[in-house]
Amino acid sequence: MTALKFRNNDEMPIVGLGTFRSAPNEVYNAVLSAIKIGYRHIDCAAAYGNEKEVGNAITEAIKQGLVTREELWVTSKLWNASHGEDNVISALNRTLKDLQLAYLDLYLIHWPVALKKGTEMPEKPSDFIPLSEVPLSSTWKGMETALEKGLTSHIGVSNFNKNHMKEIMEHAIHIPEVNQVEMHPFLQQNDLLQFAKEHNIHTTAYAPIGSGHNDNDELNLLKNKVINNIATANNMTAAQVALAWNIQRGVSVIPKSVNPTRLQENFNTGTFKLSEDDMQRIQTLDKNHRFVDGKFWEVENGPYTADSIWNA
Ligand code: NAP
Repeated sequence: MTALKFRNNDEMPIVGLGTFRSAPNEVYNAVLSAIKIGYRHIDCAAAYGNEKEVGNAITEAIKQGLVTREELWVTSKLWNASHGEDNVISALNRTLKDLQLAYLDLYLIHWPVALKKGTEMPEKPSDFIPLSEVPLSSTWKGMETALEKGLTSHIGVSNFNKNHMKEIMEHAIHIPEVNQVEMHPFLQQNDLLQFAKEHNIHTTAYAPIGSGHNDNDELNLLKNKVINNIATANNMTAAQVALAWNIQRGVSVIPKSVNPTRLQENFNTGTFKLSEDDMQRIQTLDKNHRFVDGKFWEVENGPYTADSIWNA
């Protein structure tokens, strides 16, 4: 599988480039190298603080004739401090300006968490707005307006659980087309994936190779024995096995790298195929472990807890 098809026949390349924690001075080269390698899907967010540099790289790639705008799939995300119907368009316009684009291919609500205007990361309860005051369905109306204005070709959500999605779908004119969530062999999220498939919602896996920051060998996906045995048997790397597993479940992956060798390695994954037996062995690895645990939304007496985000 090389792409996921949308209701209007648009196609999102199944392997994209992640840009979270790609420092502004590194991301320009990473995006340009990735486009040279053949990546046509870039995952961005206003919150990553590097959309200007990503935009410079995309502009340069188009100028050099490496790619056309139409051949690229660019995703970005609405930050939590811009929830609410009336705030979406101005936030999206800012992202478009930074990325130097006239439209996005996909715009996502980054988190089902609302923050007061101007807040980057919350420190106290008054930095938040409870969802009872700014319902997700109101923010979704702003997303639908962005779609109708042609500022983005598709709209979706990120870090949403089934109930968040149901709440939006109850009132939606356009139902979400993507849910971007953490997904890898240690966090398989089979229920959420099944729910998305039943509603024709695509799933994109973030942290698909385990997010890279882990000193605990037990929780290091790339050191896992089963993954490495499968990798050796198939002449793949551990990262490629983790990516191929998601791709074979019909899930797109957006591994982040700023390293040319690893960019190429991750991109090549699209050509590998794991056997049914390999897929089943990986299925036994689920630990329900989140590398992005959502605890950073918890402050004493605040309106959100990690448990309320993932499970409520
Ligand atoms: P990831 O892609 O699973 O892991 C990235 C880490 O793995 C980096 O440290 C990278 O280092 C390293 N790496 C990359 N390719 C490798 C390979 N082939 N072998 C070994 N190490 C490799 O984690 P992530 O960046 O957290 O997630 C991917 C993307 O998902 C993000 O960049 C972002 O676009 C998106 N995301 C979205 C959300 C959300 O809330 N929606 C949250 C988190 C992430 P080098 O750069 O040095 O190669």
